[in-house]
Amino acid sequence: MTAPARPAPAVDTDSAGFWEACAREELVGQRCGTCSAWRWPPRDHCPHCHAMDPVWERLGGTGRIVGFVVVHRVLDPAFADETPLAIVHVELDGTDGEMVLTSQLQPGEWRTAAVGTPVSVRFTRVRDGLTLPTFTIRDEPQEAHRVLD
Ligand SMILES: [Zn+2]
Repeated sequence: MTAPARPAPAVDTDSAGFWEACAREELVGQRCGTCSAWRWPPRDHCPHCHAMDPVWERLGGTGRIVGFVVVHRVLDPAFADETPLAIVHVELDGTDGEMVLTSQLQPGEWRTAAVGTPVSVRFTRVRDGLTLPTFTIRDEPQEAHRVLD
């Protein structure tokens, strides 16, 4: 039996550079080419100086969980083999706290998800033309506070 197709992100002219980088297994953020402010989500103009010149900057792919939920019920059959799973908000290192990516942890890591947990990006090739940035927990000392026990 073929697994149902996972939903794909809506790629537009503003976000195309982000998804093209993911296909190369690179994590990038968009900055303003005039004032260097981070633009997340990507957009055609700077919310600070209104310049139109976006610049893509490669990121290190690390960050910390700043929020999460654990999905225990299969809401979409495409995720049946991965449920329960943790949907996380990750504040990416090197972005001055301006870039918070919504993604998921690797299957099974929901058990140790906590606010403050350090994570690293791991690119998941879903199918031809669709590579998603997901995250895995990094082993390093932490002082995270578990929200849900
Ligand atoms: Zn600007």
